[in-house]
Amino acid sequence: MDNGLVMISRGYKMEVGTAPDHAFDSIFSGNTVEMCPVGALTATAYRFKARPWELKRTPSVCNNCSVGCNVRVDVRVDKVMRLMSRTNDEVDDGWLCDRGRWGFDFVNSQRLRTPLIRRNGQLVAATWDEAFYMIAARLRDIISKHGARAVGGIGSTRTTNEEAYLFQKLLREVIGTPNVDHHHGYFPGPRDPLTGKPWMMTNSIAEIEKASHIVLIAADPYERQPILDLRIKKAMRSGARIYIVNARETELDRFAAQKITIPQHGAGAAVKVLLDSVVGQEKP
Ligand code: SF4
Repeated sequence: MDNGLVMISRGYKMEVGTAPDHAFDSIFSGNTVEMCPVGALTATAYRFKARPWELKRTPSVCNNCSVGCNVRVDVRVDKVMRLMSRTNDEVDDGWLCDRGRWGFDFVNSQRLRTPLIRRNGQLVAATWDEAFYMIAARLRDIISKHGARAVGGIGSTRTTNEEAYLFQKLLREVIGTPNVDHHHGYFPGPRDPLTGKPWMMTNSIAEIEKASHIVLIAADPYERQPILDLRIKKAMRSGARIYIVNARETELDRFAAQKITIPQHGAGAAVKVLLDSVVGQEKP
């Protein structure tokens, strides 16, 4: 597990500190700041930049990975100052990873604040009403000339489930095209050999901690979906055994009952072999 904070000394001399020769090194360190009851632990990103009563608090969802932890966005004037956890036991158990907690700076620095419309070869600042009117007019024009199927939409992988749902609804029900996707390029995970679609998790996030055996195929939750990593470690504390199939080393390797190293992009073939073996053993 990560090197955490420890209690040093005893009685009235007790202090919060780090273990001898071990820096506090955790991808969940922000939770200690949020939980610190006396405000002694602070985060550089927020420290001395705002007072709590100046903040407007808005419930939201972290979109830094597919877990979708629930967050509260604290905004001062028009700037996001910090993200705080907003407990949803079914998803995040009340925790945030540091990537999600502090990975919001792009909202302040790269946000599209003014739409630009190309006029005579030049991008010119416009109002949102002008931009939306122009998009609607262009779509109407394309659909009347070529039909709705001439329109397609690629959603961002950074959207929440709710935003992705609204995006596909706009494409399918308002525009009337079936051409909707949510990413482009190579999907790194394994695919179902029959349908060609990526394999996805079919259980709920909360159910992971009740599993007795967990097989991770081409997955690295510690790096990519850290809050799932916490669930897996919770399951391990209850006796779950972990099996890892991956081309790379992962942080969970040290806890695995068994690790199978496969070639790069070999996850699909590995799954097929595993499934054939399981199905073969189940046959009478
Ligand atoms: S695991 Fe981390 S990055 Fe992923 S949604 Fe939760 S807080 Fe955000």
